[in-house]
Amino acid sequence: MSGISTYYTRMAGNNRDIDTLIIGQGLAGSILAWQLMQHGQSVLVVNQEYATSASRVAAGLFNPVTGQRFVLQAKAEAIIPAARRLYSQLEKQFRQTLFFAKPMLRIIRNEKELAAIQERKTDPAYADYLGDTVQNKLLNAPLGAIEQRQTGYLDTNALLDCLKSCFVEQHIYITTQLDYSDITVTESGISWNDLNAKRIIFCEGYVGRNNPWFNWLPFQPAKGEILTLRSNSILPDQIINGGRWLLPVHDGNYKTGATYDHDLSSTKPTEHAKLELVDAMQQLLTDKPDYEVMDHQSGVRPNTLDKNPFIGFHPEQHQVGIFNGFGSKGSMLIPWYADEFVKHITCGTDMPAEADISRVK
Ligand SMILES: Cc1cc2nc3c(=O)[nH]c(=O)nc-3n(C[C@H](O)[C@H](O)[C@H](O)COP(=O)(O)OP(=O)(O)OC[C@H]3O[C@@H](n4cnc5c(N)ncnc54)[C@H](O)[C@@H]3O)c2cc1C
Repeated sequence: MSGISTYYTRMAGNNRDIDTLIIGQGLAGSILAWQLMQHGQSVLVVNQEYATSASRVAAGLFNPVTGQRFVLQAKAEAIIPAARRLYSQLEKQFRQTLFFAKPMLRIIRNEKELAAIQERKTDPAYADYLGDTVQNKLLNAPLGAIEQRQTGYLDTNALLDCLKSCFVEQHIYITTQLDYSDITVTESGISWNDLNAKRIIFCEGYVGRNNPWFNWLPFQPAKGEILTLRSNSILPDQIINGGRWLLPVHDGNYKTGATYDHDLSSTKPTEHAKLELVDAMQQLLTDKPDYEVMDHQSGVRPNTLDKNPFIGFHPEQHQVGIFNGFGSKGSMLIPWYADEFVKHITCGTDMPAEADISRVK
């Protein structure tokens, strides 16, 4: 409660009426808040970071063509430019590199994948995303690897830190765990501890599955573990993807990951996953590199049953909204869906059907 009173004493003009109360400062809440502010909306962001917060653990990989069948992200032609535009705008604003463009070499693991690639290469829709098939002697890839384009990674922690300091500076950030029972839904909006907002939008990541307004949505959270390594061996400069991946990051370290597990009985890092990740990393390479594990983290992805986000307002309480369900692709998807949601809120445009929660019956 002390955070809230500090907020009140610092608010300009002691104004307790705002447009949008946002719960959660992962990638979803941060980017939505920022986009709303760009449209002149007033926001307040409430966040209590928990150890498994996906955005703080994520590698931030950006990869438009995924899976064994090399499927191009739906609406890639809109989604990718929107993400690149936003990250470059934030880089200018905060004078810091946030997005690192980096080619990816996708190891061809079997004849089936080879056939899928050959088919995709004849499809003009893939021309911007798939390059040549290459041989790289550092890679354990008897069938070669294919270059993937428009790939890279977002430094998620840097982005969250920049936006958090911006929110803190503007006195629109409170560190606290929101208790659902403190929210009163009124005719004109919601109220929370003397604060009035036109709406509340929950951006809670996987814990959103317990939210009393939205616990009917079919979340399918997936735990993931990831390692940060230091190595003196000569390793590829590109992102290497062979199911598991190896990512050279800008501080000279490498990240490798990630496990994928629907069992959430423990959300902590496990020795078993660490061994599995080291083994998988070694399998990507011709020679076993020397390495030291610098960090081992786990988080929970807010995945959904149909693999599409959950966006929209509660069917009866239209002041209560959700912006969630970005699964394993938050860094690529969130900017475009935030744009669409902001347009829906400010101009009344329709939400993209695949993400609109009204699809769930
Ligand atoms: C191991 C791993 C690797 C990943 N790798 C990638 C990748 O390479 N590329 C990619 O695009 N995505 C990746 N992801 C997925 C990505 O992390 C998510 O898509 C994205 O971060 C989801 O962001 P979010 O804001 O919805 O959720 P979160 O990051 O979980 O944020 C939710 C926030 O809300 C807060 N919160 C929740 N409830 C409350 C409450 N009641 N009161 C106050 N605060 C609350 C939480 O504490 C948290 O800070 C990975 C995820 C994991 C776990």
